[in-house]
Amino acid sequence: MLEMIMLGSGSGGNACVVKNQESMILIDAGFSGAEIRRRMQMVGLEPDDLEACVITHEHGDHIKGASILSRRHKVPLLMHPATKRAGHRKFTGNERMRHFEMKEVMELGSLTVTSVPTLHDSASSTGFLVESDGACLGYLTDLGAVTEDNFLAMRKADFLVMEANHDRDMLWNGHYPPHLKARVDSRVGHLSNVDSAEFIALLAELGKLNGVMLAHLSEKNNDPDLALSIVRNRQERDLNIYLARQDQPSKPIVVETK
Ligand SMILES: [Zn+2]
Ligand SMILES: [Zn+2]
Repeated sequence: MLEMIMLGSGSGGNACVVKNQESMILIDAGFSGAEIRRRMQMVGLEPDDLEACVITHEHGDHIKGASILSRRHKVPLLMHPATKRAGHRKFTGNERMRHFEMKEVMELGSLTVTSVPTLHDSASSTGFLVESDGACLGYLTDLGAVTEDNFLAMRKADFLVMEANHDRDMLWNGHYPPHLKARVDSRVGHLSNVDSAEFIALLAELGKLNGVMLAHLSEKNNDPDLALSIVRNRQERDLNIYLARQDQPSKPIVVETK
């Protein structure tokens, strides 16, 4: 049994619990330590029971609470060495810290976690595959474009957490300054609804994927109903499509296998 609960996702903070019967990890810790604990307790979980926290990249909305989580709850932080270097101001040196290399396969309790490099304007950036008992969850947020490698890695996924950050028209007609619009829309920025829909459709055609959660939606440059309809309308196969919220945890989602 593999299960995920998105504690929250968006530019205001990201954290996602993935667990099986024995082991539980967190992907990113982008809320304060107290907020992560509060949201975990809302769904009956305790940070003390985390096997580890794996970090995608050093942006504040992904590591804000990592240090305190590690110091207060003795949770090992796993990240690429470049992420640690770039995020050094957010660490005290008293954390439990371990490194991984890109594409490394890690055994975290009884969960198998693989790093999947992504295109993003941080020192290093990665998505993850999490596997347990033949079920596989893919996690891809904060990427300006998808690579062939991303596609090859995510073929394994039964369920995918996928960025659908913005609607390109809303972004370019919106109030962001021009340099920020260009940054978000670049190959190392964030993924648009249309690009997200396309990637999901290509993966779904292979026949394994049965559900997705759209994540890291921009509050200014996207609309949840719009993201949902763009992704849903592009699909030729029946998929369960969920939306991650910034302000509250998702319900627990069991990763189904075929
Ligand atoms: Zn982010
Ligand atoms: Zn980022």
